[in-house]
Amino acid sequence: MPNILFTNVRILDGSGQQPFTGEVLVQGNRIQRVGRGLRTLPTAGVTAIDGAGATLMPGMCEAHTHFGWTNSKTLDAIQKLPHEEHTLWAASVAKLYLDYGWTSCVGAATPKPRLDCVIRNAIESGQIPGPRYLAASQEITVTGSLGDDMLPHLPFPEMSFGTVVDGPEDMRKAVRMFLKYGVDTVKLNLSGDNLVPGADATTNWMSDEEVAIAVKEAKVRGKRVSCHARSTGSIKQSMRHGLDIIYHASFADEEALDMLEAAKDRIFVAPGISVIIRLLYEGEVVGIDNSQAKRMGYERELEAAVNSMKAMLKRGIRVLPGGDYGFAWAPHGENAKDLEYFVKYLGMSPMETILSCTRWGGQMMMKGGELGEIKEGYLADLLLVDGDPLSNISILQNRDKLLAIMKDGAFHKMPDVGAAQRFARSVA
Ligand SMILES: [Zn+2]
Repeated sequence: MPNILFTNVRILDGSGQQPFTGEVLVQGNRIQRVGRGLRTLPTAGVTAIDGAGATLMPGMCEAHTHFGWTNSKTLDAIQKLPHEEHTLWAASVAKLYLDYGWTSCVGAATPKPRLDCVIRNAIESGQIPGPRYLAASQEITVTGSLGDDMLPHLPFPEMSFGTVVDGPEDMRKAVRMFLKYGVDTVKLNLSGDNLVPGADATTNWMSDEEVAIAVKEAKVRGKRVSCHARSTGSIKQSMRHGLDIIYHASFADEEALDMLEAAKDRIFVAPGISVIIRLLYEGEVVGIDNSQAKRMGYERELEAAVNSMKAMLKRGIRVLPGGDYGFAWAPHGENAKDLEYFVKYLGMSPMETILSCTRWGGQMMMKGGELGEIKEGYLADLLLVDGDPLSNISILQNRDKLLAIMKDGAFHKMPDVGAAQRFARSVA
């Protein structure tokens, strides 16, 4: 792998400091040097890429990813795809995330028991292109809640979207099965969801005994536990049992916020607000108009989620973008829309939003101190962006604006031929 020098770039380094003009030298898979100003770094034996003033920023982290979601209207439709097609689909989605600048993704649940692990392993071995990836289990749920899709007359567990358990021993067995398959994260559905009749977002489903066993078994193997927790009770339950990743967390009251804050150095929150926003305002694509979305509780949940996230951010809790793309109302690839939502709905500045998907992303990937910033010694996951994301965060939604995408020191996307002729020069 040749040494690469990005020169004449505006470095948005993911530390929080304002961008500066400079140079970045990549050696192997690490950032070797960061220089301020031009022609400060040695050019002997490197391939120099003249960024012509483009922005160089860390690769982004998607905090709540489902490679296995099939851009369908329902959970049921995702699950009905046979294994073979599903694997090929997930592989193509993994590449798509990298194409859009997501160099890291945190798996939030997979629709087939081994799918996430297989994709992660294939990426790591170089068999398929994709982001750094942490593999998740299926959603583990209980009878009647989100993810239990079994019909009374067709009681086939393998046809259910989630793994359905009832009681601690069922739970122990399910968690051990996923640990055997090699997951990085075990996912529990603690609350319901407005998509499920009879199990809306404010309802709680899993018993403390079931959650306790799941956490115990996962921690024995050193793995993290994440949860789908929209309701107040489920957020508190997740904190009582020491869960690590809280998805949604819409209805956090003061007590829940106190509990989250007490664990802020360990936990990560990803609201996945696209589901709420899209169904509320753009649900017609799946036959849900605004009045129906309101009846389903989405207006109420959006208001609660916005208030909860703002309160969490004030308390220093890490809230990350991304989440639940891969449905008909929010297809894969549109994930950077979340950055715009963070600015528009949560009141974060573009800088804060970028820090949440870079610096905090590296921490959520369990690589804090070596991923998510442009810093000497850090892993070389880099995006060369045509434009300034700080003045227009929405440019990160446009893959054509990503002139170059580097993961682990290797280009996934090189500057194009024309640009390469203009910008790149080899220095002997
Ligand atoms: Zn999800």
